[in-house]
Amino acid sequence: MVQIDLNTPLQNIPGIGPKFFPKLKKLGLKTAGDLIRHFPAKYEDYSNICQISDLVPGKESTIQGNVLEIKTRRSWGQRRLFITEAVISDDSNSIKAIWFNQVYIKNHLKPGQKASFSGKVISNKKPYLLNPGYELIYSQKETTHTGRIISIYPETKGLTSKGLRRFIKMTLERVSLKEWIPLEIRKSLHLPDINKAYKNIHFPEKMDDAETAKKRFTFEDLFLLQIHNIFEKAELAEKSAPRIKISVEEIKKLLSEIPFELTLSQKKSLWEIMIDLEKPYPMNRLLQGDVGSGKTIVAAIAALKAADAGWQATFMAPTEILARQHYLTLTKLFPKTESGIGLLTSSDARIRYGPSLDGKTTKKHLIEEIKKGNVGIVIGTHALIQKEIDFKNPGLVIIDEQHRFGVKQRKTLLSGNEEGKNQSIPHFLSMTATPIPRTLALTIFSDLDLSLITEMPKGRKNIITKVIPPSKRNDAYEFIRKEVKEGRQIFVICPRIEKPQDDENINSHEHDMSGDLKFAFNKFNIDVKSVKEEYEKLSKDIFPELHVAMIHGKIKAQEKEKTMTDFAEGKTDILVSTSVVEVGVDIPNATVMMIEGSERFGLAQLYQFRGRVGRGKHQSYCLLFTDSNSSSVHSRLKSITEAKNGLELAEKDLKLRGPGELLGISQTGMPDLAMKAIKNPELVKTAKEKAKLLLEKGLNLEKNQPLKERLDQFERDIHEE
Ligand code: ADP
Ligand code: MG
Repeated sequence: MVQIDLNTPLQNIPGIGPKFFPKLKKLGLKTAGDLIRHFPAKYEDYSNICQISDLVPGKESTIQGNVLEIKTRRSWGQRRLFITEAVISDDSNSIKAIWFNQVYIKNHLKPGQKASFSGKVISNKKPYLLNPGYELIYSQKETTHTGRIISIYPETKGLTSKGLRRFIKMTLERVSLKEWIPLEIRKSLHLPDINKAYKNIHFPEKMDDAETAKKRFTFEDLFLLQIHNIFEKAELAEKSAPRIKISVEEIKKLLSEIPFELTLSQKKSLWEIMIDLEKPYPMNRLLQGDVGSGKTIVAAIAALKAADAGWQATFMAPTEILARQHYLTLTKLFPKTESGIGLLTSSDARIRYGPSLDGKTTKKHLIEEIKKGNVGIVIGTHALIQKEIDFKNPGLVIIDEQHRFGVKQRKTLLSGNEEGKNQSIPHFLSMTATPIPRTLALTIFSDLDLSLITEMPKGRKNIITKVIPPSKRNDAYEFIRKEVKEGRQIFVICPRIEKPQDDENINSHEHDMSGDLKFAFNKFNIDVKSVKEEYEKLSKDIFPELHVAMIHGKIKAQEKEKTMTDFAEGKTDILVSTSVVEVGVDIPNATVMMIEGSERFGLAQLYQFRGRVGRGKHQSYCLLFTDSNSSSVHSRLKSITEAKNGLELAEKDLKLRGPGELLGISQTGMPDLAMKAIKNPELVKTAKEKAKLLLEKGLNLEKNQPLKERLDQFERDIHEE
């Protein structure tokens, strides 16, 4: 028999026909390991084998008997189906089995053969089995597809569960599996060994066996991730980083110069960061705080102090608008610093060395200055991740809204200057408003240290949030007029830039909608509000007396900048925008966030939009407009109006849209892992404990090949993008 291992390509496994390779690939299966880790989505229990005379209509059952006759005919009527009919008999009675459009069955089942049939009995004058699964019975061979608990897999066109079951069975019979979970751990958790686990997850004899096998595989992933994270952390601790010493006096002095008092948890977070910066190895910290809780100032102080100490700090934001805003904030907050502050985006470059210079410069010059070490804080977008950008003394890397950046980008930014292994690498701080449920923090982010901002700055009021039906639109406009009269400002968010063209597909929010709705949108171009149309309408018809502006992704960078600056300076009253202002934008005087077509956005996104208001001392409002009558839409929107904090909402979003959306983790495997973690909080804890224990005992991967191989495989799986 040909021996195969987990990495054997499916092409080399005898018995899998070439026509199935593209289909298997479509399911993401390329190796023997992939195939046997293609786990059932569910099971059907056909283990109850009965006599034909005992069959009960409506019930899933299995019978075994001889094929008396089999033939295929075409049905009458419009559909002209191929109908295959067989008569099967056992000692007790005989029954008909009927299949639709499966003519090939006639080639597999011949009169006189003994076979096993599993399926549902349809009650009729004469009961029959409808589309039963079947397989021939040779002597004492155990069955795969009938007469037992049957696994049902995620399928693809032309490759059914039956085919998959057959391939998996063949592979399992040949593959050599090496146990890699230490015996004590398996024992203490009552996990089956690796061979048993694979057999039982695909071909269980009892449902309990399938369950314990499943537990083992869930544990495998959580355990491997913990080991991976602990190793990453340990590896980082062995690297060297600049020791950035900052005196408490300096910090106190700086704090006395900013216009507000930091909240307790801002202070605490800042303190944790400062302690890390002094350590000889790189910080790897996540600063998490609800939208508007004041993360920027904490990071900004860290950046400034690192710069003042002679190191360079990078501050990367996900959008140009946000990068520019950070640049303005920092230059305003720290007018006295002598460390240069730079801004680099795809369309803009600036350096400011003192309080008076506005700083326009060329990219080339900025990049040279960075190289010379003359810029202490470099703020920017993705544009910062370029080969030609070379920092003289990289000390600290800050990433705002980190869940928007892939792990890969993060790595590039960190290792950009790491030529030799011994060179020091910068400290790393990421920030996110995404509330991470505790189990996720323990699993996915367990290699990061966490700083939490748990309270809002003093004097903030709850944002009043309402769902607005079409009948109340005019009232809402009146309300907006009143707010503007009081001196406040308004955001209006629309799902798209312009009116959809006939042949154009709806925009990227389509995954929010059901198939029917999607069809309707495509087909009839149902009124999806666009920035351009709403801008026209609001500025000309509704609020001709007010200053209305618009912003969206297609507007030129300079114009965008002017629009944002005007809005920030209070020169415009109403800003009509797409989701370009979704994250981070800070206009404390804005009090109304009005969202058109709110059903088209995800909960986490709506939450971010809402966070654009309620940033100052005034009462703020979030108005969710929708024309939808669907009750599921309304209950989803209602969860926003009810959610007091982001955590509650995050948990809901997780259930509705899965963790990929929430965490922005696009790597294969991660969302799946996150889901497992959420469903098995206890197992997460255990996996973490066991991994720690194993490593404390001095796990040597070189001496533990099976574990090493499995870990390598796992790392390949989670880093694939
Ligand atoms: P986020 O955490 O969402 O990034 P920001 O850092 O943008 O929030 O801060 C939101 C607003 O709150 C900003 O206008 C900022 O100046 C202000 N702010 C931050 N900390 C405090 C504080 N301790 N007291 C008062 N206002 C604060
Ligand atoms: Mg922010």
